[in-house]
This record gives sequence, C-alpha cells and structure tokens, in this order.
Amino acid sequence: MAATEQQQMTCDIAIIGGGVAGLWLLNRLVRKGYNAILFEKNALGSDQTVASQGMIHGGMKYTLNGALTGASEAIAEMPTHWQQCMAGHGDVDLKGAAKLSDHFYMWSNTSVLSKMTTFLASKAARGRINKVPKDDLPPIFQNNQFKGSVYKLLDIVLDVPSVVKVLANNYLGRIFKINWEKTQWRKDANNKASLVFFYNNQEYSLNANQFVLTAGEGNESILNEIGEDSPRMQRRPLHMLMVKHTYPHSFYGHCLGAEKTPRLTISSHPCDEKTQVWYLGGSLAEKGVGLPPEVIIQNAEEEIFKLMPWVDLSNAEWAALPIERAEPRQNNFTRPDKAFASSTKKHSNITVAWPTKLTLCPNLADEVIALLDAKQLQKSEAPVPNLSFLDSPDIAKTPWQTAFGD
Ligand SMILES: Cc1cc2nc3c(=O)[nH]c(=O)nc-3n(C[C@H](O)[C@H](O)[C@H](O)COP(=O)(O)OP(=O)(O)OC[C@H]3O[C@@H](n4cnc5c(N)ncnc54)[C@H](O)[C@@H]3O)c2cc1C
Repeated sequence: MAATEQQQMTCDIAIIGGGVAGLWLLNRLVRKGYNAILFEKNALGSDQTVASQGMIHGGMKYTLNGALTGASEAIAEMPTHWQQCMAGHGDVDLKGAAKLSDHFYMWSNTSVLSKMTTFLASKAARGRINKVPKDDLPPIFQNNQFKGSVYKLLDIVLDVPSVVKVLANNYLGRIFKINWEKTQWRKDANNKASLVFFYNNQEYSLNANQFVLTAGEGNESILNEIGEDSPRMQRRPLHMLMVKHTYPHSFYGHCLGAEKTPRLTISSHPCDEKTQVWYLGGSLAEKGVGLPPEVIIQNAEEEIFKLMPWVDLSNAEWAALPIERAEPRQNNFTRPDKAFASSTKKHSNITVAWPTKLTLCPNLADEVIALLDAKQLQKSEAPVPNLSFLDSPDIAKTPWQTAFGD
C-alpha cells in the first residue's frame, strides 16, 4: 500500500494529563484566547485528583509549628479564589461543582492544641478560624467522653469528581484520549517537540507552540522518554484508609497530635442515603506506607477508637489505598511550598508543571501563564485541530467506588 502523506495539525498549546491541574489550565488558557487542547491517557482525574480529600486549604494546616511558611503564604488566597470560581465570578467557571462542606475543623483530644492557642487565637481575630463553643460542637463531638478543643476553619471541602466534570464539560471538544502505543514524540533540528499519531494507516503530526506536561506521576516517564533529566520529580507515598459505614454524621477535619503534620485527617464522602465513606489520611497514612492492608486497617481502627471511642464502626467495611503524591524534587524530600512550572532544557517548547496540592491549581495556571508570557507565545485564530479519530476520556472513579462498588 502506498504511504499516505502525513497530515499536519497545529495548536497553540497542547496539555498532556487531564487531572485537575491540566483541566484547570485548559480552562484558563482557552479563556485567555489560546487555541489549547488536552490529552489524557486514562480517565480524567485519575491518579491523585479523585483520590484527594478535596480540602481547599488556606494554609492553616501548614502552620502547625506556629510559624508562617512559604507554603502558608502562597496558599492563603486560594479558598477565596476557588469560591469566586464556583460562584461564576473567577478566572475559571466552576459553576455546578459541588461543595461537601464550607468549613473544616482542627481538633485535639489532648493538651497539644493548647500549645497553639495563642497562634490560633490571633488567626481567630482575623475571622478565618474560630474556637467552637461546647454547645456548637459538630455532632460527632457531642458526646460526654469528648474532652478536647475544636477550632473551625472557614476553608471549603470540594466534591472533587464534580470539579473534574465541570472543568471537562466546559471544553469537551478540546479533550482527547491519547493512546501512547500509537503516538510518538519527535524533535526537530530546532529542538522543537511535536507529536506524531498513527491511526488507520494515516500519520498525523501535531505541532504545538508549547506542550505543557501536567501528567502528575506520569510527567516522570514522559521526561525520561524524551531524554530530559530536568526538572526532576519526587514521590511522597501515603497509605490512605477508607471506611464505609452507616454512622450518621459526616466530618471534615484534622486531629492535631504532637507532630507538625496532623495525626489524623478525616473527610466524608456520601455513597447513598444511609452510607458514607470516611477517607482517612494524615500521619496515620504517612506512617502506614509499606504496611500490609490488614495491619494498617487495624491501626486505623485503633486510632479511631482512641480518638472517638463512642463512634460505632463495628459493621463498617474497610479498604486501604497505597498512593503516591507526585511533586517537583526538593532537596530534602519535603513538601514543596507552591505550585511549580518550569521549562525543560533540551526542548524549546515543553513546560513541566506540578500543582503539589489540588488547592494550588489556580497558582499553577498563573505560573504557567507567566512562563508563556515570558516566551511571548502568540495566540492564533486557528480552529481546534481535527482529532476526531481519538476517543473522549471518561471521568475516573473514586478509590471508594473502586473498592466498595458504586
Ligand atoms: C490521598 C491524597 C489526598 C490529597 N488530598 C488533598 C487535599 O485534600 N487538598 C489538596 O489541596 N490536595 C490534596 N492532595 C494533592 C492533590 O490531589 C494533587 O496535588 C493533585 O490532584 C495533582 O493533580 P495533577 O492534575 O497534577 O495530577 P493527577 O491528579 O495525578 O493527574 C494526572 C493525570 O495525568 C494523566 N496522565 C498520566 N500520564 C499521562 C500521559 N503519559 N499522557 C496523558 N495523560 C497522562 C493521568 O491519567 C491523570 O489523569 C491529595 C493527594 C493525595 C494522594
């Protein structure tokens, strides 16, 4: 059969990876007038996004040692930013995305919280965090056995799959499923990357003025494949717990222990009218890395019993989830301070980005746009490239849907 001519396609920006970072960025770029498209290899929101707890932090969690850090400063404006977007007044249209809660709690069952009382009180003065009087305690703590202190933070918790859905629905015609067995990276003599697809005996070449890699953990293998050794990635593993039960109260919050990171973090995810999943993280999940599921499940049961012995989870179903957080490499493997975006060295048109937190996606888009502005990337009037031979990706299932069924 005679070889057919390669079909050329162009766009301003092609984003690789449809987690929350890539989808948020697509929304920002299209609204700014760029001819941008996005490629996802599995389902939208796979890996970290739908596995996150959905807490949009204002940075308070990072002040557990009482001092403001770079992270807490970069993150402080994020809850307001997200709220504006959800109300339809922000730089991304998130109308229709669901909020699970408009606050979350910090609590302690010991005197640990008292070490932070002065600091928390100073924040309370600014209205972001309030000590909860005994009469207003959330239902879960309305029990005589509870002796601790509770602070309420006015930071939101999102239903993440609904965020993914809204971000995707805004620009469905620009989102494509990519099959890497039929796709290759190419580099021309000017170090410019392009993508070549082979479908139905036809070869297509996509020339993007800029590729932005937002593939989370997948960024590392792409960088390896294209021969880039910088920027580098780090993984910080967690072993999360899921417990599906009929205890009637939902809860969103961090239990503070003696350490800088929360001892236990709980978020609640409704399943049906009677059941919900509590998703457990914090030190429990950090220290549980590498443990067999039955051991970490037992640890979690004991921890819940120590912290809230009155909560009856005896009929609950448990599951464990080992998962990696993918981030830019830090010197000491600590948590990076803010969203990261950087150009690669050996290609003139590839940018790599990690948000490091779902919360920081608006910050990530700002960082990427600043890089594009510095490169004076042009906005073209060209139509969306005709990639109709590619499928559309679905939205990923949450880990608890996978573990317990829908
Ligand atoms: C257990 C857990 C709880 C968390 N809780 C919170 C929280 O409460 N609040 C918060 O702010 N942050 C939280 N985070 C962090 C947050 O989830 C992540 O920072 C964020 O989701 C990262 O988004 P991302 O889009 O960069 O990556 P990902 O969500 O990992 O998405 C990457 C996407 O790229 C796709 N992909 C991979 N390789 C390729 C490829 N070669 N080609 C095309 N597509 C590819 C994947 O399929 C996936 O869809 C949590 C993280 C974890 C693990």
